[in-house]
Amino acid sequence: MHRLLPYLAALFVCLPLRAEVSADWTTPVEPFRIADNLYYVGSRDLAAYLVTTPQGNILINANLVTSPPQIRASVEKLGFKWGDTKILLNGQAHFDHLAGAAEVVRETGAKDMVMEYDAEVALTGGHKDFAFGKDITTDYPPVRVDRVLHDSDTVELGGVVLTAHRTAGHTRGCTTWTMDVHVPGEPADKLRHVVIVGGLSALPGYQLVATPKRAASYPEIASDFEYTFVALKAMPCDIFLGAHGVYFDMLPKLQRMKTEGPKVFIDPAGYQAAIAEAQTTFEKMLTKQMAAAY
Ligand SMILES: [Zn+2]
Repeated sequence: MHRLLPYLAALFVCLPLRAEVSADWTTPVEPFRIADNLYYVGSRDLAAYLVTTPQGNILINANLVTSPPQIRASVEKLGFKWGDTKILLNGQAHFDHLAGAAEVVRETGAKDMVMEYDAEVALTGGHKDFAFGKDITTDYPPVRVDRVLHDSDTVELGGVVLTAHRTAGHTRGCTTWTMDVHVPGEPADKLRHVVIVGGLSALPGYQLVATPKRAASYPEIASDFEYTFVALKAMPCDIFLGAHGVYFDMLPKLQRMKTEGPKVFIDPAGYQAAIAEAQTTFEKMLTKQMAAAY
């Protein structure tokens, strides 16, 4: 049950219904180091990550339209330059992760790279989202896309390689990022697999199957979710991260980090449990919608 509660919380906080903004989305936390070249620069719940390289830095997630000053302050507090942000990536094209992108790109000149399907949502400031496209309260400033990504594409800068996995369903181009890192305090030759989950939940209102009364949210939504669960379960994961802190129990882990260090984020069991819970919720929703169809 203790694993279920944060997930249920995640379901609700990630629901961009009428653009409600939870306090944890805007309350800053001290930025912190997860691995040699990987830092957390987000808020108490809206995650943003800085990947540093000798040739400039990569920012993952720009968050709310109000978030860039918070993210910038975190980057600078860590001793890095905002203007060294060369590439902007994201986990999903909902407003709580992408609304700040246009400002980040304008201020830093970063190249914006977005997964196919989410790219058209980014370009239209949310209008092309299958669930919230008609809700003007979840719109955001459109942002240019310099490179459209496809499943398994890599993004490289200064010797660092990130891989983009299309783990669709929550959004149609929902993206899970993976990379290998060295964690401070571990043997020099030991590398850890990082997984930054883009989004797992089938939100209330998603129509997973076409019925005589209602079209599916998009034709492949159920098969996309099913593929996503299979793909994520098979992904090697040591360090479990995600687009929201609640995905990976960040706040409790932060408490433990004070005494145990960044190894608290090494949580392969928590990763598998989070996927299994999301899959169970999805399957229940699918079964219910199929039963209601006839
Ligand atoms: Zn979302």
